Amino acid sequence: MFKKILYPTDFSDVAAKALDYIKQLKEAGAQEVTILHVINQRIIDGLRRHAMLDKDILQWQKKAEEIAQESLAEMSKELESLGFTVKTVVKIGFPWREILEVEQKEAPSILVIGSHGRSNLGEAFLGSVSDRVIRKCKGPVMVIKRDSED
Ligand code: ATP
Ligand code: MN
Repeated sequence: MFKKILYPTDFSDVAAKALDYIKQLKEAGAQEVTILHVINQRIIDGLRRHAMLDKDILQWQKKAEEIAQESLAEMSKELESLGFTVKTVVKIGFPWREILEVEQKEAPSILVIGSHGRSNLGEAFLGSVSDRVIRKCKGPVMVIKRDSED
């Protein structure tokens, strides 16, 4: 039921909490994890609006990809030491769209996502990325909730 997991992360606390659950899913038969981070196209569009030169944007992108890969490599090592097989993916685009595309392509047994991410607005029931992904994904999804404030 949990053999192949897709885990999108924005490096937030809630996403980190989701990773803790994934580790525990080993006992329930989890074997493979794809860790996915999407560099938000909106940030790049913002840089362009602020008249950053194309070559500087490209350089920023490369650096952002590098940093993301490093963070994913660390998570990957952790999971591998627990016996998981891990794949790491960094993409550029709109996070919800890229996550759904990977979900379609990889057809994971389950997608494990945080209810919220880096914004973590108090009033929001779900973040906008998790909202769209949960609505539109094909397979089962496990939503890890943020710590409640009460
Ligand atoms: P919003 O982005 O709408 O302001 P938020 O940041 O609180 O709200 P989301 O962005 O929806 O919430 O994050 C929910 C979950 O979606 C995260 O815990 C993470 O699992 C996943 N996620 C969000 N952004 C990305 C991203 N850029 N790459 C990969 N996964 C992401
Ligand atoms: Mn977010």
